[in-house]
Amino acid sequence: MNSSSTSKTLLFWFSIVLLGVMLWKLVSNPGPSADNISYSDFMEMVGKNEIRDAHIYLEANSVSVNAALRDSQRHVSTTLSQGDLPDLKERLIDSGASVEYANVKSSDWVLLLLNGLPLLLLVGFCLFLMQRVKRGYWKTAQSGLAKTRTGIGYDLHRLEEGRPLIVGGVELPFDKGPVGHSDGDVLAHALCDALLGAAGLGDIGTHFPDTDPQWKGANSLLFLEHAKRLLADRNFSIEHVDAVVVTEKPKLGPHFPKMREALAKALGVSSDKIHLKAKTNEGVDAIGRGEAIAAHVVATLSSR
Ligand SMILES: [Zn+2]
Repeated sequence: MNSSSTSKTLLFWFSIVLLGVMLWKLVSNPGPSADNISYSDFMEMVGKNEIRDAHIYLEANSVSVNAALRDSQRHVSTTLSQGDLPDLKERLIDSGASVEYANVKSSDWVLLLLNGLPLLLLVGFCLFLMQRVKRGYWKTAQSGLAKTRTGIGYDLHRLEEGRPLIVGGVELPFDKGPVGHSDGDVLAHALCDALLGAAGLGDIGTHFPDTDPQWKGANSLLFLEHAKRLLADRNFSIEHVDAVVVTEKPKLGPHFPKMREALAKALGVSSDKIHLKAKTNEGVDAIGRGEAIAAHVVATLSSR
């Protein structure tokens, strides 16, 4: 467990404990504790001017009084019948005590709402946090753009007369084409290797061995579609692809828009993420003599 996931876990449990403490306080807080005394004892205290203020709670069939004493922090409470209330009120006022009325039930509801609102907000906030933690938001927020990865891919195929030349998923009019187990699309193969390399998933040969007859003559865009699924399974997104195709002939530039479209469709990205360039080999080596075609690709991924 790394430090960011430890702090996430701590934050989560801290929120849960805080929530628990608040809930416990809400449920268990009975207000100022009061000694319950008989009505006659209470009246005696009223007679001696010992009561400072009294809260009168009107209940369905009775009246309860919670009173603070003048000379101490002590509270006392008592219960009386509703018939005794006018007399009690008069004597309290005569003794100089302040008197307040409250309806028990409504006051409880107001109290519950006042206490419950911040609690509800806290529960909502905790749920929000949990959702963020679940989605891995904190992971990427803490590391910023650090979760970017790059891969490189290279491929070369010999060219022979009479074969179709497919580059970037597009068949080009030319008298030669690549020799290969699949359709020999150098650009698609190098791109696939760059993507797999960036994700740390080996290379194209690992996933599509050229000894497997099912890939004979296969459309190489299938390899890219498979790579796309592998990346998605591991939460990788394709940020950018840059490629160079090296061939003496034919001219590739006019076909780039179609190639970008085909590659982007196979990878499920917009074509502005695919950048293509063409080079000749200035007549040097096998490529320069028109005997081979090659591609170099760099791919950048980000993880969510
Ligand atoms: Zn290849």
